[in-house]
Amino acid sequence: MDLVLFGPPGAGKGTQAKLLVQLLGVPQVATGDMMRSERASGSELGKRFDEFMSVGKLVPDELVLQLIEGTLASETAREGAIFDGYPRTTAQAEALDKLLSNMGRTIDHVVSLQITLDHILDRVVGRRACFNCGQTYHLRYSPPPSSGVCSVCGSSQIKQRKDDHEDVVRRRYEAYKSETEPVLSHYEAKGVVVRVDGVGELSEVTSRITAAIGVETDG
Ligand code: AMP
Repeated sequence: MDLVLFGPPGAGKGTQAKLLVQLLGVPQVATGDMMRSERASGSELGKRFDEFMSVGKLVPDELVLQLIEGTLASETAREGAIFDGYPRTTAQAEALDKLLSNMGRTIDHVVSLQITLDHILDRVVGRRACFNCGQTYHLRYSPPPSSGVCSVCGSSQIKQRKDDHEDVVRRRYEAYKSETEPVLSHYEAKGVVVRVDGVGELSEVTSRITAAIGVETDG
C-alpha cells in the first residue's frame, strides 16, 4: 500500500506514521527526518537543506527529488510506503506519481489530518526531540525523563528542534497554506483523499485513520 499522510506541520503525521508502519507493514518515508540526518552528517547537501529548514521554508523540489528517488529504489520501500511530509508541492506530487507508476504503483490513499493553528502551536512549541534517536516528547503531554536521558536510547541529547520555535512554526504553517495545501486538489481529482480529525488521543486518531482507509485492526 502507498499512503500519503497529509497535514500542516505539527498535525501528528510523524507520530501516526510510526504507528501505521506496524499496522500496515510498509516503511515510513519521512523527507524531514531524512533531511535532518543529512544535516547532522555535516555534508554539503545537509548544509543546503539547513539554509531552508532553519527558517521554515520548503527545500527546493529538485533536492527533494534526489532524496526520494534513492529511497524508492531501495529494497525496504518495494511493497509500498507511508509518505510523511512528502509531497509538499504539486511538482513533488507529479514527480511521485511518475516514480510510482514506473514501478506499477499508485497512491492508494491520502489521509488529510485536520487540525487548527492554535492546536499546532500548543503541540509543536512544547515538543522536544532526542537528537540521537529521534524519539519525541512533549513538555506537558509526554515529558522527557527528569534525568534528561532519553528513555529509548539513553542519550542526553533531548532538545527543542530549531524549527519548532514559534516564529518558525508560524512560517512553516504559512508555507503549508500557500504551497502544500493546494496539493490536495491533485489527489482529490483522483478520488483518494480522506479527511480525519487529527485532535485527540494518539490511538483514537490511529483508529480513525485505519477506519477511513478500510483497514481492519485487532484493537
Ligand atoms: P518536517 O519534519 O516534515 O516538518 O520537515 C521539516 C522541514 O524540512 C520543513 O519545514 C522543510 O524545510 C523541510 N522539508 C521536509 N520535507 C520536505 C519536502 N517534501 N519538501 C520541501 N521541504 C521539506
